[in-house]
Amino acid sequence: MTVRVRFAPSPTGYLHVGGLRTAIFNFLFARHHGGVFILRIEDTDTERSTQAAVDQILDSLRWMNIAWDEGPYFQSQRMPLYRAHLDRLLESGHAYRCYCPAEELEKKRKAAESEKRQYKYDGTCRHLDPKADPAGRPFVIRFRMPEKYPDHFDDLVLGRIPIDEERLDDWILARSDGMPVYNFCVVVDDADMRISHVIRGNDHVANTPRQILLYQAFGYSAPQFAHIPLIHGPDGSKLSKRREAEYRKLGMSVSVQEYARMGYLPHALFNYMTRVGWSAGDQELFSLAEFIQKFDLDGVGKASGIMNPEKLKWVNAQYLKAEDDHALAQKLVPLLAEKGIGTTADDRLAKIAECLKPRSNTLVELAEKATIFFIAPTAYDEKAVRKFWNREARAWLEHLVEVLPELPLADEAAMEERFKGFAEKFSAGNMGKIAQPLRLALTGSTASPSIFTVMNILGKDECRARIRRAIEELGKLG
Ligand code: GLU
Repeated sequence: MTVRVRFAPSPTGYLHVGGLRTAIFNFLFARHHGGVFILRIEDTDTERSTQAAVDQILDSLRWMNIAWDEGPYFQSQRMPLYRAHLDRLLESGHAYRCYCPAEELEKKRKAAESEKRQYKYDGTCRHLDPKADPAGRPFVIRFRMPEKYPDHFDDLVLGRIPIDEERLDDWILARSDGMPVYNFCVVVDDADMRISHVIRGNDHVANTPRQILLYQAFGYSAPQFAHIPLIHGPDGSKLSKRREAEYRKLGMSVSVQEYARMGYLPHALFNYMTRVGWSAGDQELFSLAEFIQKFDLDGVGKASGIMNPEKLKWVNAQYLKAEDDHALAQKLVPLLAEKGIGTTADDRLAKIAECLKPRSNTLVELAEKATIFFIAPTAYDEKAVRKFWNREARAWLEHLVEVLPELPLADEAAMEERFKGFAEKFSAGNMGKIAQPLRLALTGSTASPSIFTVMNILGKDECRARIRRAIEELGKLG
């Protein structure tokens, strides 16, 4: 059997991280089994679906490098197929037209509610002669519940799921405006696209019995179902768009698009999200090839996955470290431009990326740290000034300015040797005592990469200007 799976988002908003994880699981499952991954846009809800949402979903999937093999198919373009299938069920008697006025049904529903019983359609139109259609009257199309149907289905993740008869009635397949409902279209499409496995969020478990009954009515064999647990927020409660402001502060979001803005790398997010709800031993980091090799549904857990932004940052930091410096430079250019820093992705920017990437969790952090190479400090960290600025520091920096022209900035090992000599002279051999005031002068703080790297990237002229300015500003103090 060829594995054919699909990701079927409804374009009513941006791509949600839960949706992303469903997309990833389908994509990896298809790749692992040498199958086909299909993208289907479920846009039959014309009031809530928008082109902007379609574009965002496709952009997010492309950004994540999740490539589909077929589609995107749009349900809105497949109406003739649904109509033909509705006719088929009407003809075979698995469906019938129901003319009950909406107000009447509403009354019956309310009555059931007040009596605290589950509302079910009472079958008023069930036995109408299909040939005696009262022309011109609005109708919905209902499914005719069969007498016999399975009492459970076997879910590849959740196990045996009972089919709860209490909840099933002659449900509506198409509304009075002729629009077929989700549960109907999804079955017609999954059958038409020869889907072998339906891998989706477990919020769809309750829909599955109706879908199974439809397969049975059409005489199609049903695909296998795998319902994956939903993703919860760091506090264990369901992810909610309303709590977005809180999530952003923690470094996460409900929206996939935001992760790009927050400076995460797509392959890091891919790695992290796959691990929310799937595991292969204790391994945290996987190459795509490893994921494809190892991913299968038996590694998917039954418990809800919890988003842990600290872990996500850690994963991202690992990927940043492994990223090529020139590729990082390319990514930094637009982020620096946003700060008013115009630069190209040249060797200098690659060097900046190289020295900052081990010290950053995200691209945004890296860009923030990189500004110091483009904009001289205008203020100096007060605590560091109190600790490291004094008469000796000033004498040392004045000396440094003098000898700067003959220092071998590009040769860090030689620089280290020279600095040992300076330390002997100015701080009884204590390297920290000469490095810290210099860091302060060059960057405004004492948290920076190796001082030799900083000097080399800044170059002699810029070093001289920054040291002089610091002596002038801080000289008043000591
Ligand atoms: N369109 C549905 C959703 O976005 C998915 C349906 C399915 O996977 O069967 O939730």
